[in-house]
Amino acid sequence: MTRCLGTIIKEGKSHICHHTLYYCISCGSVGCDQYSFSQCSNQGFLYCKCLVCGVNGQSKIYYYDD
Ligand SMILES: [Zn+2]
Ligand SMILES: [Zn+2]
Repeated sequence: MTRCLGTIIKEGKSHICHHTLYYCISCGSVGCDQYSFSQCSNQGFLYCKCLVCGVNGQSKIYYYDD
């Protein structure tokens, strides 16, 4: 499982997100899933809804091919 390396800034301090990464089956966008906006610099989904194409419920856990 791949972890999000985006930055979350909270109360003036930044830390690494480490949420599970998802990708969108519809448009291929990759990012983590958050329950509200702007928590993570690498947020790609809001409650399973893709922030790029707007499709809902089409996110799958993202794995790197190495
Ligand atoms: Zn994240
Ligand atoms: Zn999408």
